[in-house]
Amino acid sequence: MRQKIRNKFQELFASEGSVYTSPGRINLIGEHTDYNGGFVFPGAIDKGMIAEIKKNGTDKVRAFSVDLNDYAEFGLTEADAPKASWAKYIFGVCREIIKRGGEISGFDTAFAGDVPLGAGMSSSAALESTYAFALNDMYSLNIDKFELAKIGQATEHNYCGVNCGIMDQFASIFGKKGSLIRLDCRSLEYKYFPFHPTGYKLVLLDSVVKHELASSAYNKRRISCETVVAAIRRNHPEVEFLRDATMEMLNAVKADVTSEDYMRAEYVIEEIQRVLDVCDALEKDDYETVGKKMYETHHGMSKLYEVSCEELDFLNDVAKKCGVTGSRVMGGGFGGCTINLVKEDKYDAFVKEAFDSYTAKFGHEPKLYNVVISDGARKLK
Ligand code: ADP
Ligand code: MG
Repeated sequence: MRQKIRNKFQELFASEGSVYTSPGRINLIGEHTDYNGGFVFPGAIDKGMIAEIKKNGTDKVRAFSVDLNDYAEFGLTEADAPKASWAKYIFGVCREIIKRGGEISGFDTAFAGDVPLGAGMSSSAALESTYAFALNDMYSLNIDKFELAKIGQATEHNYCGVNCGIMDQFASIFGKKGSLIRLDCRSLEYKYFPFHPTGYKLVLLDSVVKHELASSAYNKRRISCETVVAAIRRNHPEVEFLRDATMEMLNAVKADVTSEDYMRAEYVIEEIQRVLDVCDALEKDDYETVGKKMYETHHGMSKLYEVSCEELDFLNDVAKKCGVTGSRVMGGGFGGCTINLVKEDKYDAFVKEAFDSYTAKFGHEPKLYNVVISDGARKLK
């Protein structure tokens, strides 16, 4: 990949630039917890974006996407927004840096990546983080790492129409080999935990479906959470998010909320606790408990939060049947991947059974991605 980028950069710009990379991410556990002030638990993966980049002495950016075989040229003022959607990520990062007072100028760049697009590993964050990190380094801007993540997030909000949280960009920038990062979505405090699943593989199975329900269901879930918080606050005014609530507090208002809202809140309260439990388990190298919690999350997302779907439940059942240590839907739900923690000696049989039975039932294959927890944004030598 690096050679392909090098060749293209040389061909287009007849010079040699610096090379930067930034990864995609997985989230081991902690789903729908972010907007409830809770914890997420992501890690950077061994798939990412690589970009060669060099100042060109003009006020224009000349960018080439190797994977899409597409070229874009744009200026750095708000009126210069490029048309191609991939270029908007780069433009957005430039704009967000400039808005923060960063002084940058035109540059040439060519880039490519191996994070599958739209599969739930955040290829877009990998792209933003690569350029945020690169420009900060090249122009000696001294922007701190958290702000680099926020620049990526603001790019999604302001230039790509995606109202995302901070997790993806955070993980892409802060990732560390052999570590997952517990991020407190309220205080933005974070802590690294060891992740050395010796004898296990981490594998994503992509259902390759995306059900339309996702965004309206998401909004409804948020309203359920807010409704329950409002009910609990009548007894406990200190409760700001479900993060602050206990099952005891929830049970005290059971008669005041719908059974549906109750289930939603139960899932969130339990899920936030599960993140903490998994962190404890990892400190003891106890991957069996990690796996058990992953199954609990899947069950909660399927039966209480009701954001799973037939395909994902099917893949989860196959995992259970094949003795996979842990499996759950990853991401918001209604499609995308399951993330599976699999003992190496069970891996081949699991993958075969998943492919055979899934294809027989749904008429198309799932996709498989092995991932290894790896380093975050960095310059390549
Ligand atoms: P994801 O969940 O993978 O982040 P998004 O829809 O948010 O999916 O982002 C995908 C978009 O990011 C693509 O449509 C494209 O504009 C850009 N992108 C991601 N990877 C690449 C790549 N390798 N080359 C060019 N653009 C890319
Ligand atoms: Mg994205």
